[in-house]
Amino acid sequence: MKIKFWGARGSIATPEPENMHYGGNTSCVEIRTAAGEVLIIDAGTGIRKLGLSLLQDPHFSRSKKGTIFLSHFHWDHIQGFPFFVPAFIPGYHFKFYGQFKMGGRLEESLRGQMEHAYFPVRLSDMQSTLEFHEILEETVYVGDTIVTSRYLNHPQGCFGYRIEDQDGIVVYCSDTEHFPNTLDKKVLELAEGADILIYDAQYTEEEYLSKVGWGHSTWNEGVKICREAGVKQLILFHHDPTHNDKFIAKLEKEAQSEFPNTIAASRELELNLQNKRSLSPPSAVELKTHVYLPGELEERGDILIIRAPSSLSEFSSASYREKVLEQITPRFNHIVVDLEKLKNLDSAALGTLAAFMEKVQKIQAKYYLYRISDFNREILEISRFTHFLTILDDLSILQKTS
Ligand SMILES: [Zn+2]
Ligand SMILES: [Zn+2]
Repeated sequence: MKIKFWGARGSIATPEPENMHYGGNTSCVEIRTAAGEVLIIDAGTGIRKLGLSLLQDPHFSRSKKGTIFLSHFHWDHIQGFPFFVPAFIPGYHFKFYGQFKMGGRLEESLRGQMEHAYFPVRLSDMQSTLEFHEILEETVYVGDTIVTSRYLNHPQGCFGYRIEDQDGIVVYCSDTEHFPNTLDKKVLELAEGADILIYDAQYTEEEYLSKVGWGHSTWNEGVKICREAGVKQLILFHHDPTHNDKFIAKLEKEAQSEFPNTIAASRELELNLQNKRSLSPPSAVELKTHVYLPGELEERGDILIIRAPSSLSEFSSASYREKVLEQITPRFNHIVVDLEKLKNLDSAALGTLAAFMEKVQKIQAKYYLYRISDFNREILEISRFTHFLTILDDLSILQKTS
C-alpha cells in the first residue's frame, strides 16, 4: 500500500514560501492499495495535482477508475474537485463515498460549489461517470480493500476512515476534536492496531484552549490515541494556516519526543506500507481482518491465527473472549494463538485460553500456541496446559501439513 500526501493543510490553502516544506494545499491523500486500486481521501486543493499525476500513470490510464472518500463537505475538503482533470474526461469512472445526510448532501455539496454564481463549469459538464454512495457507519469494499467509516467529533459531522488491505492498515482521522478527560471511542475503534494514523493535529495545546468546539485536535491527543490503540506510526495532519514550516517542524520534534515514530505530513510525502509479517512470506499470505478486536485475527486457508493483544485485561475480558469464540468455526482445522505480545500470562488469561480450547475440541480442530515466552512456557507446564495442546516454534510446519 502506498500513501501520498497531496494536501495536508487545514482550513484554507496557504501557498506562501514559508510553508513550502509542509505544503499549502488542503486535504487530499492518495492511497494505492496492494491490488492497485486508486483510493482518494478528500478533495481539497491537493487533488488538482493528484489528477495531473494520475493522467501520467499508465496503470490508471488503463483502469480509468478511482474511489473518492470524503470525510465531510467543508470547503477545504471539496474545493479542489472542480480542478480534477480526470473527472472531465469521458470513459473515466469515479465512485464517491460520504456521509448520508437528509437531502442528498454528498452530490449536492459538489454540485453546489460549481453553480454558476461560483464557477463557470457545472458538475454536470464533467464527462466522466460520477457515482455517489451515501453511507452510515459501515464497511465497504473496494476490490479486496476494506474501508470502514466512523463519525468524528466535528461541526456538521465528519467521517474517519480505516483502510486495510494485505499490506496493512491506515487510518484517516482529520477534522476531529478530542473530548476532555477521555479518548474518543470511535477514533480508538478505527485506530485499533493500525500501522499508520493520520490525525488532526491543527492546534497546540495552548491554542486549543481558545478554540474549544471548533472541531480540531492536537498532536498530544494523537499520541494518546496511538499509545492506547497500539498504532505504529503517527502522521500529524491538517496543519493550521498560521503555522509555517519552522513552527510545524518544532511541533513535529515535540511530538517525536513523546512518540518517536511521528512525522508531520509534508508536501508530496510518500509512505510505503508493506507489513513484513513474520508468520510467512507476505506475498504468500492472504490476510483478511474483518473483525475489530484488540489484537488481530488472521485466516490462512484452514488455519485461524488469533494474535493476542498486548494487554492482559483485554485478552481476559468477556467481550474479547466472546468475539473470538464466534470466529472459531468448523471450517478451520488448526487454531493458533500467537502470544508474542502477551509475555506474562495470568490466571484470567489462562481462562481465555481454556475457553478457546473447549471450542476447538468441539469443532474437532487442533490447538496450538505460538511464540511463547519462557515465562509463559513455565506457566503452561505448571498448569498442565501442555498436555492438551501443541507449542509451535515454527508456523510453516503447519502450513505444509494443511
Ligand atoms: Zn478541514
Ligand atoms: Zn471541517
